[in-house]
Amino acid sequence: MIRNFLFHRVNPKRDALWDPMDVSLFDKCVKHISNKYETILFEELAFSDNINTANRYATIMFDDGFKDNMEYAIPILEKYRCKASFYVVTDCIDKNIPTWTFILEFLFQFSENEDLILDFEFLLPELRIKKLVGKEAKLNYVKKLKPFLKKLSDHERDKVINCITASFSDVELPRIMMNWDDLKEIQNAGHYIGSHTLSHQMLGTMSNSTEIKNELLGSGNRIKEMLGYFPLTISYPVGSYNETTKKIAQETGYKIGLAVKQNIFNPQKDDMFEIPRIELYNESWFKTKLRISNTLENIKSLIRYR
Ligand SMILES: [Zn+2]
Repeated sequence: MIRNFLFHRVNPKRDALWDPMDVSLFDKCVKHISNKYETILFEELAFSDNINTANRYATIMFDDGFKDNMEYAIPILEKYRCKASFYVVTDCIDKNIPTWTFILEFLFQFSENEDLILDFEFLLPELRIKKLVGKEAKLNYVKKLKPFLKKLSDHERDKVINCITASFSDVELPRIMMNWDDLKEIQNAGHYIGSHTLSHQMLGTMSNSTEIKNELLGSGNRIKEMLGYFPLTISYPVGSYNETTKKIAQETGYKIGLAVKQNIFNPQKDDMFEIPRIELYNESWFKTKLRISNTLENIKSLIRYR
C-alpha cells in the first residue's frame, strides 16, 4: 500500500484565501512521514519489480511549481533524506506567472478597482455583479465564485477569468514560480519533475480533444526540451479528469495519471491513470496527523454511512 502525499506552497507568509503550509508544519510532516513509512519517489516505486507489498510506502509530491518549494521545502526534504516529485505547469514556468487558480484569488485581494461587470448567463444570479465595493465584499465574492468556476466548461471559465483580469489590471502579479534552472537543480539532486499541464486547465471540464491533447503533449514536450526526458507522470490540475482525459494521457505517452482523492493507493488493484493522493493543508498538527494516517477519511466515511 502506498500513501501519496500532496503539497502545494510551503511558506512562512500567510495568505487570507489560499494559505500555504507553514514551514514548521511541513517539517513535522516530513519528519513524521519518513519515520512511519518507507519514503520513496513515486516514479521509482511504480515500475519497480521489488515492491514488498507488506511494506508501508509513502511518497511526497508538489503541484504547480512554486518557488517556495525550492526555498523552504527542499532543505527540509534534504534534512530527512527524502526525495519528492514536482509537477509543474510549463507555461507558468516559462512566463513566471502563477496558475489561474492563484491569480484569481490574488486579484480579488489586491486590486483597488471596484468596477467588475460579470453578467454571463451561465453564472448563478447571485454571482452576476457590476461592482464590488470594499475588500471584504471582494473576498466574500471570490470565495463563492471560485468553487462555481470549477463546475463550468473551460470556455465559460476562460470568459470569466479574462473579464476579471481586464478589470483588475492595476495589480502586478507576483513572480513566485520556479524557473528551468531551479528545476534542473532539483532534478540533479535526485527529485523528479513531471507535468501538471501547459496552463493548469481543468482537463475533466474540456470537451475539445485537440485542446486536451495540446495541454498534455505541449507540457510533456516542453519538459523534454528543457530537462531531457518526456515525463512519466501527468498530475491533473484541480484533480479534474474523466475517461477522455485518461485515454489522451495514455496516447500522448504518459504512464501515470495523478488524481486528488483522500485514499491509499493499491498498486495491485488501482488504475494507473487515477492514482489517489492525500492533500495536506495548513491545519493543526492533530488534524494533519489524522489525514496522514487516513483516520480522518475513515471517520468521515463512518459518519456518512451511519
Ligand atoms: Zn495545481
